[in-house]
Amino acid sequence: MKIGFIGLGNMGAPMAANLARAGHEVTGFDLAAPCPEGVASAASAQDAAGGRDVVLTMLPNGRILRAVAADILPAMDKGAVLLDCSTIDVESARDVAEQAAAKGIMAIDAPVSGGIGGAAAGTLTFMAGGSNDAFAIVRPLFDVMGQKAVHCGPVGSGQAAKICNNMILGVTMAATCEAFALADKLGLDRQKMFDVVSTSSGYSWSMNAYCPAPGIGPQSPADNGYRPGFAAELMLKDLRLSQQAAQTVDADTPMGERATALYTAFVEQEDGTGQDFSALLPRFEKRGRG
Ligand code: NAD
Repeated sequence: MKIGFIGLGNMGAPMAANLARAGHEVTGFDLAAPCPEGVASAASAQDAAGGRDVVLTMLPNGRILRAVAADILPAMDKGAVLLDCSTIDVESARDVAEQAAAKGIMAIDAPVSGGIGGAAAGTLTFMAGGSNDAFAIVRPLFDVMGQKAVHCGPVGSGQAAKICNNMILGVTMAATCEAFALADKLGLDRQKMFDVVSTSSGYSWSMNAYCPAPGIGPQSPADNGYRPGFAAELMLKDLRLSQQAAQTVDADTPMGERATALYTAFVEQEDGTGQDFSALLPRFEKRGRG
């Protein structure tokens, strides 16, 4: 396929490189980052988008996607697919899809889970929103860049799934970290805590696969001085998207709200910036109730 790829940052560059390695003709554009090996460099976003079967975007937020879409949609062919894999707000995803449809272009929102490691290894999970026809066209690309793609429903459903998943992640990580800190104060050995919880009803991905306590459970950023991994500021971005979405549809999400406040304080007032999102554990260790 002829693919335009816009946004070649930490995630986009390895995803574009994997598509090129699989034999697709990939032309890339980024305001700052260079094109990875195998990806031809376009002079502008419009140049990257014109005449391609699929234009993939991997950008920081919805505002930037809206600006890029306004720029490239006039250059794209009718019948082409705009595949946005960024994590953005549901409203922007739906608005951009509507603008695309008005020009005869199909749009899919397909945010990913799996991080930079998954992008490099081609093992991402895609959660996609869009029509069956558009999903069928981009499915082979998901197979190259990832190990799983779930078609969640119409446009916006991919972002909805991502936002809900990551709200659960933020809440369970906060709960796991505060429980470890409580267990410490109660004199419970951390390994015993892990052995019980990871096989009991408190288990979760945060405990079992990404344990925030150093030296316990499988290898995780806690074993690497809490270097990300999944940075606290990215967790905060996703939690804020969950709260923005909850506000839009009038959903009561008190745990998501509490986790958002916690990560806001951690990133903006404490030492959370640049640390993994599981570094809430040392944060709780240092604190008492008041
Ligand atoms: P990044 O900041 O490394 O990359 C974004 C790239 O977009 C940058 O290279 C930037 O120069 C480029 N860009 C910005 N505005 C542009 C424009 N107008 N035209 C062209 N290029 C432009 O971010 P990332 O870590 O690659 O994340 C990308 C998206 O993936 C985000 O939405 C993020 O939330 C999501 N995501 C990231 C991770 C992760 O672990 N990093 C995991 C899952 C999802």
